[in-house]
Parts: sequence; C-alpha cells; structure tokens
Amino acid sequence: MIPGSHVLRQVPTWQSSLAQAINDPAELLSLLNLGDEWLAPARAAARLFPLRVPRGFVARMRQGDPHDPLLRQVLPLGDECLTAEGFGADPVGDLAAMTVPGVLHKYQGRVLLTATGACAVHCRYCFRRHFPYTDANPAIDQWQRALDYIAHDASISEVILSGGDPLSLSERRLVELVERLQAIAHVKRLRFHTRLPIVLPERVNAEFLNWFGAIKLKIVVVVHVNHANEIDDSVRVALTQLQAAGASLLNQSVLLRGVNDKVDDLARLSEVLFESGVLPYYLHLLDKVQGAAHFDVQLETAQQLMTQLQVRLPGYLVPRLVREISGAPGKVSVF
Ligand SMILES: *Cc1c(COP(=O)(O)O)cnc(C)c1O
Ligand code: SF4
Repeated sequence: MIPGSHVLRQVPTWQSSLAQAINDPAELLSLLNLGDEWLAPARAAARLFPLRVPRGFVARMRQGDPHDPLLRQVLPLGDECLTAEGFGADPVGDLAAMTVPGVLHKYQGRVLLTATGACAVHCRYCFRRHFPYTDANPAIDQWQRALDYIAHDASISEVILSGGDPLSLSERRLVELVERLQAIAHVKRLRFHTRLPIVLPERVNAEFLNWFGAIKLKIVVVVHVNHANEIDDSVRVALTQLQAAGASLLNQSVLLRGVNDKVDDLARLSEVLFESGVLPYYLHLLDKVQGAAHFDVQLETAQQLMTQLQVRLPGYLVPRLVREISGAPGKVSVF
C-alpha cells in the first residue's frame, strides 16, 4: 500500500453489506409492506436474540407475505418467548464437548473450530442462539491453544471452520488461521460451514477467490440453504466460483415447519442446489433449542417426507435425515 492511501481506500463491498444488514424489525416490516401487528412481538423476541438479515436476502422475499419461507427464518415472532417442554439452552451438548476454547471435538478424526461468533444472518431456529460465544471464541491471540490441540492429536485429519460463520472473519484473519492449519501435517481436509455465500454472496469476491483457490488442503464447503428461493443469480455465481476454485460443495438444511416441510419444497431445493453444483448432504431435525419449538416437525412427519422425496428424486439428490444427540459419536440417521 502507498503510504497515506488508506485515506482513499474504500471499504470492501461485502463488509459494507454486512454493516448495513437490517436489525430493526420496523424497517424489515416496512420494506416488505407488512402490517404493524407483527412489530410488538418482533421487538420482544428480538430482545432475546437480535434480528439480523442482509438486505440482499430480504430482496428475495415476497412482498406482503408474512408466510414467505425466507422471512420465516429471520423474523422474530412472539412464539419465541414461550417456554416449551423438552427445549433447552444447549440441546446438543456443545459446552461439555469443548476441549479448549473454540474447539469442539465430538467425532473421530474431525474437530470443529468456532472461529468466530459472528453471523451475517440470525436464523431464529439456530441452536446457538443461547451460546456463550464470548467464552467459546478463541480471540486471535487464543488461536494458539486451539492450534496446539489440533497439532498434538495426529488422529485429526479434518478441521471444520464453523461458528458463527467463518467467512464473516476478515481476510487477514482467515489467511492467518488457514496458513497455520496448513502447517500441521496430519490435517488433510479443511471444511467451511458457512451461510455467507447464500445470504451475502458478495463475500465471494475476487480477492477471496484468489486466496481460496490457492489453499493446498482439500476443501469442502458446506453451505446452509433451507428453501430454493434463497438461491438467486448472485448466489449461483458465488457457488459456481467456489466450485471452480476447487471446492466440493454440499448443503445442509434444517427441516422447519412453515419453511420447507412440504415434499415439493424439498424436491425443488435439491434440484436448484444441483444446478449450482451443490449436493444435498444433511437434512437436520430441529435441535430442541428454547424459543424454536414452533419450527419443530415431528419425526414421523419427517420420515414420511423422506419416503416421498425418495420417490421423486435420484438417490444423489436425497439428503440424509439426521438428528444430533448429545454424546453420540456422529450425526444420527433417522431414516
Ligand atoms: C456436525 C459436526 C461435525 C461434522 O460431522 P459430519 O458428519 O462429518 O458432517 C463435526 N464436529 C461437530 C462437533 C459437529 O457438530
Ligand atoms: S448462519 Fe448458522 S450459526 Fe449463524 S445464526 Fe444461522 S444457523 Fe446459526
């Protein structure tokens, strides 16, 4: 950089999009021409877990439709304030599995690194809505402990960058983290669990792709799409570019009442994903997190949907229906 040029340097586009994400329920409702009756409950629920949604994602929602499947994922509802039997704050036992800050080592050969607590979007059903990110987050100076842990266990061949959303980290921090992981000989695969290419596709810019394409580890990107309407042209381009840079692309969804609990929705999702080079991986049953009970789909209903889906789609477009059970050695298939 030329000395003094920082005065002129523009903020990268994805970072301004991130900063301009909507966090005021009144603004979201007004952009979508929705009535004021949604406002008071939205404000109350947003106090438990703030509203956050990028403008580009809102642009893919239907005007005037409170049941839009994208809106349902992000709009705080009064139902979130109810307490439900069997729903808790840490439904998947993450806190017990945290070996050192930021490292979840539950499954053989794989560790999950919560590289940041930040997400570009706040999904109302997120099992991390009550997660104490301040304790779980290795700040930059704490990555050493997480990296030491990985370096000292030769059985770890895959590192999953998760969060929060790892692509909400700055370029500088991502580069540093991945450089240090690449220096560990037994780490062969690097996986990103991210929703950014979907909710903020401008994150996948030229600078990112240059760096990403040069990573020497095998790369898997697991995106998170619940409904076909989430994929517009900008998302399609971002996904195609990630694949062209050498990544294998998979998708995980959460089965959500009122969002994607119809066989037509699930079939179309798989087809649209495939058009963008993404294979369906997991369809998760909802983790029983407090405040998300209204999204729950009964196991029997989920299994019936899978039976119908299998008839409709080639086998490689059928995701695996799974549930996470505390203490289990992996995701548990339930179909
Ligand atoms: C889901 C998860 C993984 C990855 O599991 P896969 O079945 O390999 O996708 C790894 N670690 C933790 C803690 C997880 O929750
Ligand atoms: S992007 Fe993932 S981690 Fe972030 S709020 Fe949504 S579901 Fe949770």
